[in-house]
Amino acid sequence: MSRLGQFARDVGRFIPAEAARPLGRPAAVFFHGVEHRTVDARVQTSHHETADFVAIARALKANFDVLPLDALGDVLKRPDRHPRAVFLMSDDGYANTFTVAADILEELGLPWTLFVSTNHVDSGERNPVFLARLFACYAPDGDYPIPHLPEPVALRSDRAGAAEQVVAHLRALDMACAQQAVEAMMAQIAPATVAALLALFSSESFLNWDQIRALKRRGVAIGAHAHRHWPMNEHQSAAQLRAQAETPKLRIEQEVGPCRYFAYPFGNKGDISTTAWQAVRDAGYEFAFTTLSGSLDARANRFLLPRFGLGPTARHLPTLISLLRAGNPRVRHWQRELA
Ligand SMILES: [Zn+2]
Repeated sequence: MSRLGQFARDVGRFIPAEAARPLGRPAAVFFHGVEHRTVDARVQTSHHETADFVAIARALKANFDVLPLDALGDVLKRPDRHPRAVFLMSDDGYANTFTVAADILEELGLPWTLFVSTNHVDSGERNPVFLARLFACYAPDGDYPIPHLPEPVALRSDRAGAAEQVVAHLRALDMACAQQAVEAMMAQIAPATVAALLALFSSESFLNWDQIRALKRRGVAIGAHAHRHWPMNEHQSAAQLRAQAETPKLRIEQEVGPCRYFAYPFGNKGDISTTAWQAVRDAGYEFAFTTLSGSLDARANRFLLPRFGLGPTARHLPTLISLLRAGNPRVRHWQRELA
């Protein structure tokens, strides 16, 4: 989380929701998956526990106008007229959005958009960052030379720290090198153990196309989250970035129907290059979302819109969302850097 995001979360605790309410502006918020129970928080970093997610969804419903994403064009024309508008989204396309999140949101009548990484839907391949975390947390003690990483990975006591370090190194690699590195990591764990771990962490498995079509029939909008779940930063080639923008649109339109929205994997500073957002624009999307915190603002580049990651619980959520405009100067500065 950014220092500003942390500051807003810290300060937000002391400001009652009613006091923050008049400051509200339209906002986009997102979650990943929803699990009944987290087995190992070091590798399952993306999921809300069910009771917490229900509280979050209720807080959104009670305090905001949660709108379908096709209302975004109108909201952006006159953001001051929609101070309570919130657009709810889920990234990655974990299978548990079908079994848990969709029921909760349907019961409360909240519209939402699901962003899927189409390579993972097509292949069932798990998220490379999750696999890297599995290696860092479950490979036997030792020093592992991994291709493309600057030094051997030392795995001993602080496995959570090692996981963060491995993921940070991977994010600075182009997709093909990162893929080789992750394959080398998985080769260090016995195949039977890998199979058992994948079964244990079924929370990290992805939806298939039938499930995505079923969600679409239940009113969920389907957007693209690149083809492979990988950063679209300056370490990726222009051809790769073009494919990351174009392929998921094509696949979603073949399998589900029109695809108008994009969300960048990781989506923060250092994860998106100028070439990347221009490739997204040129692929024909209407809007694209990052993970920088801010409110939706008519002056913003509509291919670099801010979005707020929902924290683990609903505490202070109405205050935090109402204060998101505090992040806008940072968002605008970054958009200018990428212009
Ligand atoms: Zn993602």
